Amino acid sequence: MKLDGHLTCDRCGASAHDAIDERRGEVLAECCFCGAMEWCKAPKRLASEPVTQRDVNEFRFKFGRFTGMTLAEADTQPNGRKYLEYMAMTNDKLRERIAEYLKQGSQRVSQDACGEAAGTQ
Ligand SMILES: [Zn+2]
Repeated sequence: MKLDGHLTCDRCGASAHDAIDERRGEVLAECCFCGAMEWCKAPKRLASEPVTQRDVNEFRFKFGRFTGMTLAEADTQPNGRKYLEYMAMTNDKLRERIAEYLKQGSQRVSQDACGEAAGTQ
């Protein structure tokens, strides 16, 4: 993957890099000219891979208060919806899939006590 123009090499000043590894929103960039490597924050266009339905359904939190839960499970916890909304605003890695989940979830009846009690079933 090319990272041209996103970085400037500390060693030789070139701005042509390849991403040779990627994790947690960071990429390991290798300078095409001198081979220097450094971890850096992934450019937006790399971090934002298309979110699939499977990403939304099968994602489980690996950190935080809802560790091990899916987005839907976290959403049913006290303040879960607020947490999802907060993560959607602050976490680059999770932003898109949570946004997708929330978009879909808005079709459903919210259990959030703060939300409007839509529907009478
Ligand atoms: Zn270099």
